[in-house]
Amino acid sequence: MKIIRSPSAMTAWSEGLRRENVRIGLVPTMGALHDGHRALIRAARLRCDALAVSIFVNPTQFGPHEDLTKYPRPISHDRALCKQEGADVCFEPSVQAMYPEGFQTVVSLPAIARRWEGEVRPHHFSGVATVVTKLFGMVSPQIAIFGQKDFQQSVLVDRLVKDLNLGVRIIVRPTVRERDGLAMSSRNVYLLPDDRGRAVTLYRSLRAGAEAIQQGVDDGRAIQAVMHQVIKAEPAMTIDYLAVCDPRTLEPISTVTSRVVLIGAVRLGSVRLIDNLLVTVPRRRS
Ligand code: AMP
Repeated sequence: MKIIRSPSAMTAWSEGLRRENVRIGLVPTMGALHDGHRALIRAARLRCDALAVSIFVNPTQFGPHEDLTKYPRPISHDRALCKQEGADVCFEPSVQAMYPEGFQTVVSLPAIARRWEGEVRPHHFSGVATVVTKLFGMVSPQIAIFGQKDFQQSVLVDRLVKDLNLGVRIIVRPTVRERDGLAMSSRNVYLLPDDRGRAVTLYRSLRAGAEAIQQGVDDGRAIQAVMHQVIKAEPAMTIDYLAVCDPRTLEPISTVTSRVVLIGAVRLGSVRLIDNLLVTVPRRRS
């Protein structure tokens, strides 16, 4: 496995391969890789001939009071995981290389980026959309794999490649969870030991919402209330949002009729947890 740091070397690698019609896959990450990332890398490995995993803690997607400086960076572990899963390249650009002096252009966001994460973290999606566009420019992949864990991000990236004709096929893979259901996240290491057990409450709340839908509740507010109730029973947790949404537009749904996504973000101590569940509404007998 090659370690490439400079964007120009990255582009040279992919240009050579594309001339030979080699199918390139990219898994963009911020490192601190866990089994969720591993699943994406495996899925990519099956779908391409040459695989690059990018590891870049992108400063422009962090707010001023967020965890940029303390974000975990276990680079030897990350490289070993990439190598083990058969990546051909670990792309590790520096901040200076990604945002050299004079850098100015950012991607303007679609409506789907305004709500939820976009509201709580105002600069986040602009940073995400811009860095993803830059990575696609440097790596020129035919396919790129993202996790359902960051559902709104995956919808945004899908829109981005369509709207800007980036020519990359976006594949979204399911969320990988711990045994108790907690969605794996690089930030879970920040959870205090007492909070680790509580953290699964977010997933339980989404499950309770899904269960209500399966049992025939179709009122969006009623489903939201069910999810709220579960979180309220865990006093250490505060809610950023819990919502029942259309999976394509991320607009809240008042009456559930087909597929919905239940999305949630909560705070537990200093840790912010996000999660979601896609739910297909059962056919009702008339
Ligand atoms: P990150 O390193 O957190 O920026 O995530 C890199 C990619 O991994 C994104 O596409 C995430 O959605 C995805 N990802 C993060 N956690 C998980 C998980 N538990 N299961 C599946 N994919 C994940």
